[in-house]
Amino acid sequence: MTAAPTRLPTTRAVEWTARGELRLVDLPAPQAEQPGDLVIEVRAAHFGAALRRAVTIGHPKIRPPRVLGSLVAGVVTDAGGDAPAQPGDRVVVDPHPPCGTCDTCARGLQALCPHTAPPEPGGLARTVRVRTSPAAVAVLPDTLPFATAVHAELLACVLEALDRGRVREGDDVVVLGTGALALMAVQASRRAGARRVTCVARRPERAALAERLGATAVLGARLAVLTDEEVPKAPVVLEMSGDPAALATAFRLAAPGARIVAFSGYPPGTTVPLPVNQLHYEGLRLVGSYHYAPGRFGRAVDLLASGEVTLDGILTHRLGLADAPRAPAVSADPHCVSLVIEPHIEPHT
Ligand SMILES: [Zn+2]
Repeated sequence: MTAAPTRLPTTRAVEWTARGELRLVDLPAPQAEQPGDLVIEVRAAHFGAALRRAVTIGHPKIRPPRVLGSLVAGVVTDAGGDAPAQPGDRVVVDPHPPCGTCDTCARGLQALCPHTAPPEPGGLARTVRVRTSPAAVAVLPDTLPFATAVHAELLACVLEALDRGRVREGDDVVVLGTGALALMAVQASRRAGARRVTCVARRPERAALAERLGATAVLGARLAVLTDEEVPKAPVVLEMSGDPAALATAFRLAAPGARIVAFSGYPPGTTVPLPVNQLHYEGLRLVGSYHYAPGRFGRAVDLLASGEVTLDGILTHRLGLADAPRAPAVSADPHCVSLVIEPHIEPHT
């Protein structure tokens, strides 16, 4: 008598192939193998502009083949010893908890720690494993939907940018861009006490949304015809549009002594000419912002749970996992501000 071959459990995922396509695959289901491991049934995964650009034009840090995505929220189904959550807990994963022990962390640059452990095999999957420190997940209140919670990493990055721009009570702030992150930055700036928040919108149809979320003014195509004397200048300018040319616009909008935050990632190899004499003679600070320091992820969850930062008008599109290969096209739709993949949703066709 021969034993039937044992079939290992699998999980469905979306693979970005070496040929640049997105396709559904079945991979070995992740298991809790070590102390601290968490297995999570994904209820929401975020598909944003960074992933779309990676697939369509390339990304300095993300390359195929792999399962795309690192932003997930869901329900814990298995937990190794000493794990920071228990089966049944609703959680959102912090994909960049710093190791706390490397040279980069020792220099206080935890946001840039290279030893973070994103969920395996990647966010666009039915099941993922998180293998990292106790700070790697936040347990969610029952009132916070998964599709909202999955924006916590993005909001944490925004909070870091505001801190690097030193947004203070009574400041004027300029936000370049009207994507999900920029629209969260408008709200977070107002919560931080900014007096005026001017949004620079390439897409005129986003102006009303930016104003509803707290922008006190929206500049569009009119900006191009204003003289340098007519342009409103602010002590904090956040470049969040993803357009490299906007960095030069950021200088136009910078008051003497201003902090300009380079928040966006651009295509590999991008260079831009900048008015370096303005940098020098007006004492500007040009500062990059990438990921976030410890503490910001939990703060972001709190802001989303309390409604102080809302996704009303931002979370516009949802797809099931079977439809996820269409995510780059859906995400590029001008009506799409933020797209969430919900693996339990059945395909539309
Ligand atoms: Zn580290």
